Amino acid sequence: MVTPLADGVWWYDLRGTNAYLVDDDGTLTLVDTGMRFHASALIGGLREAGFELRDLDRILLTHYDMDHVGGLGAFDGVDLTIHVGAADAPLVTGEQKPPLSNHKGLIQRVGRLLTSVPDNPVEPVEDGDSVGTFTVYGTPGHTPGHVCYVSEALSTALLGDLVLERGGTVYPSPWLLSYDADAVEASVRSLAERAPAFEVAAMGHGVPFEEGGSRRLASVVETL
Ligand SMILES: [Zn+2]
Repeated sequence: MVTPLADGVWWYDLRGTNAYLVDDDGTLTLVDTGMRFHASALIGGLREAGFELRDLDRILLTHYDMDHVGGLGAFDGVDLTIHVGAADAPLVTGEQKPPLSNHKGLIQRVGRLLTSVPDNPVEPVEDGDSVGTFTVYGTPGHTPGHVCYVSEALSTALLGDLVLERGGTVYPSPWLLSYDADAVEASVRSLAERAPAFEVAAMGHGVPFEEGGSRRLASVVETL
């Protein structure tokens, strides 16, 4: 099921993880893809929002984790491009395996069993790049290649797992699930300083906010 958050922005509540659909100035964009078993929910949500699978043009990934890239296989054979932060791109393409030397890398190694390498072209993105109306903000910490995407035109920030919502409050990604918790904090500060104001705050976990997004991100900075 998809829930509209703003004009052209829909939330997929996949029970435990989120994905989003964005009509980005006519370019239909899926943001993250849930787990492998969410494939039919993702395609069903497209229809609910008034689109067909073939209408999908682009997938933006916030990072490589099984609950964000697991559903990629559902889009094999659809003509689209996948965008992902440069440091996470070789994990999506299978060119690299997550490192055993980091606790989060170990979690990703196990999760890798529930992912597949997509057929579609994977385009690495870096801080400062533009994809449609979105600007890419490098926000490493949860994973080395974690990125957020912010569109001033849509007043929407796709925050991935930089922060999460629980009980109406926003928290930084916790140590256990992060490569580097200090880097997460630095990334939260950096995004709050650099991003334009936005209303919609779309996190990878928890309930997204339709209003006051940048204000809520600023409130996280105060807790660091
Ligand atoms: Zn996640």
